[in-house]
Amino acid sequence: MDRLSTVNLLPGIGPKRALSYNAAGIDTIGGLLEYYPRDYINLNLRYNTIECPTDENVCIAAMLTKKIPAVRLKNKLNITKAVIEDEMGKADVSVFNIPGFFDRMKIGERYVFYGRAKSFGGRLSISNPRVFDIDTTGFIPVYPSIPGVSQDRIIENIKTALTRITITDFIDEESRAEFGLIELSDALKLIHFPTDKEENESAKRRLAFNEVYVYRKKLAEIKAEFKSAPGRRMKKHAEMMSRFFEELPFELTESQKKAISEVSADLTGDSPMNRMLCGDVGSGKTVVAAAACVLAYANGYQSAFMAPTEILARQHFNTLEKLLTPLGIKTACVIGALSAKEHREALEKIASGEIHVAIGTHALIADKAEFNNLALVITDEQHRFGVRQREKLANKGDNPHRLIMSATPIPRTMAMMLYGDLDISNLTDMPKGRKPIETFAVTDKLRDRAYNFIKEQIADGRQAYIVCARIDENEDDYNSVESYAENLRKGSFAGYSIGTLHGRLTAEQSAEIMGDFINGKTQILVSTTVIEVGVDVPNATVILIEDAELFGLSQLHQLRGRVGRSVHQSFCILMTANPTAEVRERLKYLSGTSSGVDIAMYDLERRGAGDFLGTRQSGFNQFRFASYITLELLRDVDKYIDKTKDQ
Ligand code: ADP
Ligand code: MG
Repeated sequence: MDRLSTVNLLPGIGPKRALSYNAAGIDTIGGLLEYYPRDYINLNLRYNTIECPTDENVCIAAMLTKKIPAVRLKNKLNITKAVIEDEMGKADVSVFNIPGFFDRMKIGERYVFYGRAKSFGGRLSISNPRVFDIDTTGFIPVYPSIPGVSQDRIIENIKTALTRITITDFIDEESRAEFGLIELSDALKLIHFPTDKEENESAKRRLAFNEVYVYRKKLAEIKAEFKSAPGRRMKKHAEMMSRFFEELPFELTESQKKAISEVSADLTGDSPMNRMLCGDVGSGKTVVAAAACVLAYANGYQSAFMAPTEILARQHFNTLEKLLTPLGIKTACVIGALSAKEHREALEKIASGEIHVAIGTHALIADKAEFNNLALVITDEQHRFGVRQREKLANKGDNPHRLIMSATPIPRTMAMMLYGDLDISNLTDMPKGRKPIETFAVTDKLRDRAYNFIKEQIADGRQAYIVCARIDENEDDYNSVESYAENLRKGSFAGYSIGTLHGRLTAEQSAEIMGDFINGKTQILVSTTVIEVGVDVPNATVILIEDAELFGLSQLHQLRGRVGRSVHQSFCILMTANPTAEVRERLKYLSGTSSGVDIAMYDLERRGAGDFLGTRQSGFNQFRFASYITLELLRDVDKYIDKTKDQ
């Protein structure tokens, strides 16, 4: 038996339970060992019935004093209750749908009850607890639940797996000592069954190291594959390119020039371009991409330009059309908002080669669009897409050149880890004349002043964004946005025109709402973070971000970048309710800094890569120990890779 053996081979797992594990994505014994706890029950931290915090999971040590037989409720539910008691007072325990829950427990006996504590009229109540013998100590793992397998069974199976499998460490002892890593088999034991916090931390650090190392290795392989693939070698077209530069309404920045020459060198080289263009919001990435389209066109090739949302696709289309039409380049925008007929016609023209640059969302490539002669694929704001999506893109067409644009400024070390398969161009300077955005961190005590400030801006003819955080990842964002806007309409902003943008709208609806904001028909746009990616409304000069503490600094910086896009001075207001000292300090830092890379570095140094990698939308949520990926760890992995590269 080894890591790759199927789970049904492990003693204690029958065919039925094996199927339950399979349904949860666990096929092998190694996979079972990598089914990490999402939390731990700390049985050493026990509360009494009075001093116990509520609305969180706690352990309460108390005596069982009364059992109340099961009562039937509506909907085939039944509830069984008991009373527990300590020297401070009494509390209730209720259990749903397990009528025999208390049968094996004795009146007069003390137990530890673990569960979410609530207070009802001052009396503590805990429902569906897990119950432990009073002498149980230490940490009990809590796993993401698996239908058909109880927590106790998972624990038992993992314990068995740990004794049956020999885990060989791929990192040698000397390197482990050098980088302060514990042995892999110890790490696996301690991630499941730690006996104290420090041990658990060292296990997490070790497993984070593994994740980063494995990921980087994989990227290095992808890169090597790319470099050995044949590309569409293009020729330089100095004349067409200088015509393009002459038509531009502005002078290129130094780093734009450099990026364009790096891109041209790739396009005219032997292997396919596989490059990421990084630049802060507003640094002018679009024109670099446009230059690449021009060169492709001059060589008789088509380009595809993809944005993550339809709003952005439309916006890019407007920009690119202006930049490219003077050179005779034909563009088309393919998005869901088109009629069936328009859509079909656009696709036909792309297939025939009549359209040179097709702009759309990822559906453009993922679905059916057939190109006549596609050689360049550009993707905007690619930071939302992890390596798997990047691979998928690469497989379309025969080795097209790829340019990926990211507005998420990241420190170099981090970029190497996440984008090790790509070459990187950086836009480090901003177009001339940009004013930094004045940023204020305030508590909601100053809400009236903030609203008045927004009114002043609107009175000057400007517009405002208000961003509400989504309450939780799985929740619909509709409520937070709509009810917030409704309050404004009825209260502080009665008589103003207010639009709302959130995930429940159709593409058409959000395009219309964006359209109204772009045309100045709405004065305030209340939105979720959907506006984060690249929306460009130069007349908007103030953005108010509610519950700012819920966001990472980099994300706040991105949101802030929605304003400051014109000659008018722009403002960002970061609103918090009860900021801790740490939150205050972070927001103060953001207020004083306008460099995206510095901001990302600040978060990375203090908080690890969790903010950056942890969210679902980052595209990197496969890093399960993201918050343990620190700058120091990244450097260590680098050193280790360097040390072992000849092996
Ligand atoms: P981002 O990097 O955020 O995608 P954009 O490409 O949307 O930035 O450019 C932001 C704005 O700056 C656009 O209105 C664009 O026309 C303008 N711009 C780009 N490059 C320059 C430049 N070199 N000088 C002045 N304005 C520029
Ligand atoms: Mg952009």
